[in-house]
Amino acid sequence: MSTPSIKLNDGNKMPQVGFGLWKVDNATCADQVYEAIKVGYRLFDGACDYGNEVESGQGIARAIKEGIVKREDLFITSKLWNSFHDAEQVEPITRKQLADWGIDYFDLYLIHFPVAIKYVAPEVRYPPGWYVDDAGTKIEYSKASLESTWKAIEQLKKKGLAKSVGISNYTGALLLDLFTYAEITPAVLQIEHHPYFTQENLVKLAKERGIAITAYSSFGPSSFIECDMKVAADTQQLLSHSLITGIAEKHGKTAAQVLLRWSTQRGLAVIPKSNHPKRLAQNLDVVNFDLGDDEIQKISDLNINLKFNVPTNYGIPCYIFA
Ligand code: NAD
Repeated sequence: MSTPSIKLNDGNKMPQVGFGLWKVDNATCADQVYEAIKVGYRLFDGACDYGNEVESGQGIARAIKEGIVKREDLFITSKLWNSFHDAEQVEPITRKQLADWGIDYFDLYLIHFPVAIKYVAPEVRYPPGWYVDDAGTKIEYSKASLESTWKAIEQLKKKGLAKSVGISNYTGALLLDLFTYAEITPAVLQIEHHPYFTQENLVKLAKERGIAITAYSSFGPSSFIECDMKVAADTQQLLSHSLITGIAEKHGKTAAQVLLRWSTQRGLAVIPKSNHPKRLAQNLDVVNFDLGDDEIQKISDLNINLKFNVPTNYGIPCYIFA
């Protein structure tokens, strides 16, 4: 099954549906990536912080070796972790991440979070996570500004280490600030986006500036229940919400497909992950049916501005979304 592509503002094309690699177990990751390629996935959304870039690369190498795909058929995204924001760390860590994947360029490289924390050398701890110490008791900030980090990210594109560059978890204010100094406009903004957190105005701002949006955590609370997050457990699950299941039944689709189609029909890209072969295929099939305008509106009306992916919800005292 093939999926349509979104044309990015730098001329590159990004598949509208991809496979997210957060919380994919190291033990099964290579096989999952390989199986996902066989099912038809071409976009893989990774990050230093997911700790599975080596295994993801192994899955890709196997698929390429067996002639299922060529490197240029794939769209590989990775992200700069918070501890590598100091300008002089950006290229070395990108090169390490490329080596881990076993590739020589990323299709897309994003600033993961708009916060610079103190550098931890890869030999000391990798991925470093949020804390400066092994015991996980102390967050220390770096003095790198987001402007200085973005300038270093622009160099990655100029040097061909990333074909497209972008940001993640930026708010409107940070984007507007970025426009004052950016030589290269980000191609993609990756954000949490689901019916409880529709971010209409941020979507509008990105669209006005020609920035494509990738939605993450499209099923809302489900992803965060796995992380033992109380607010996620206390919230009505979207996958079993009567509005969503009712619409799904009407279209002969699953609730997951309706949630993904709600995003893709609004022009966003999605990157769900699943460990189940049936769901893997199902999540890819989210562009070949249409929801009615009234259905899209009713789903959007579920918005309660509820963001789950906030460090403090995991007990991490970093107040970036304060
Ligand atoms: P997700 O939307 O992929 O949801 C995952 C949960 O939904 C899992 O519990 C999974 O088993 C379940 N699921 C998947 N398909 C299903 C189906 N068809 N039916 C029923 N249940 C199904 O959530 P996510 O992992 O939070 O987000 C997806 C990807 O987005 C991540 O893997 C990662 O690549 C990216 N992401 C980025 C950031 C960021 O800060 N930039 C943050 C979170 C996630």
